[in-house]
Amino acid sequence: TDFEPTNVHEGLHSTITILNHKFKKNNVNLVEDLEDDLPNIKAVSGELNQVWTNVIDNALDAMEEGGTLELTTATNAENLMVYITDSGPGIPEDIQSRIFEPFFTTKDVGKGTGLGLEVVKNIVDRHKGHIRLNSKPGRTQFEFCFPINA
Ligand code: ADP
Ligand code: MG
Repeated sequence: TDFEPTNVHEGLHSTITILNHKFKKNNVNLVEDLEDDLPNIKAVSGELNQVWTNVIDNALDAMEEGGTLELTTATNAENLMVYITDSGPGIPEDIQSRIFEPFFTTKDVGKGTGLGLEVVKNIVDRHKGHIRLNSKPGRTQFEFCFPINA
């Protein structure tokens, strides 16, 4: 697979466009706080788009009663960070360690395969990135950290 300089904002925006119907259906509004002149990262852009799709899709599932999805990007000297935050109910503490396991789902049969976050984890690993989960009732944040000069 080809790792190429990849613009993360472009990937986030094409994901948002593809999921636009679900934002509307669930009455979720989007807030963006994006860094100016974000540097590219070396990535397989299609794989990164799969990451954003799986995580944002979960966030939208968690906000069927409406809410806010926040996309934030930032950098430091070595890393590019993406924060995807939702105002859904949160992930119960006792399952937080299990959500990246294959086939772990809390959704009804036919609604979730439990593979979304397992795929996310594998792709982020291949990109030498890290994921941090921060969730409490009313707020869930997935933080992604990728090396800029990998
Ligand atoms: P699926 O979406 O098919 O259930 P995933 O691997 O994408 O599988 O997610 C696993 C589980 O993690 C979900 O079933 C849900 O319980 C939990 N989860 C993931 N993201 C969120 C979120 N933003 N808010 C609440 N729960 C979440
Ligand atoms: Mg999912």
